[in-house]
Amino acid sequence: MIKNLLPKQTVCNQKNEKGETCFGLLKRYYPFASYYNETDATLAAKIKKEVGSDAGLVLLKCELCSTVYRLPEVLERKYAAKQ
Ligand SMILES: [Zn+2]
Repeated sequence: MIKNLLPKQTVCNQKNEKGETCFGLLKRYYPFASYYNETDATLAAKIKKEVGSDAGLVLLKCELCSTVYRLPEVLERKYAAKQ
């Protein structure tokens, strides 16, 4: 599951089967960096298809349910500049 991060969102808003919100912490995540490759091949393929497979790609991942969040464009550029 890949979602877009909402403005000011800091915790996961994914709902489970019971309709309860996750509220897990979102950790910065570099799925295609050499030091941290995504080990879940299905998820890696999905990310590659939706946002590309750049080594500097920064996403957020919920530490509880593993939902992946795409950062807003501005943040994406800001983090990309630091690489
Ligand atoms: Zn979550």
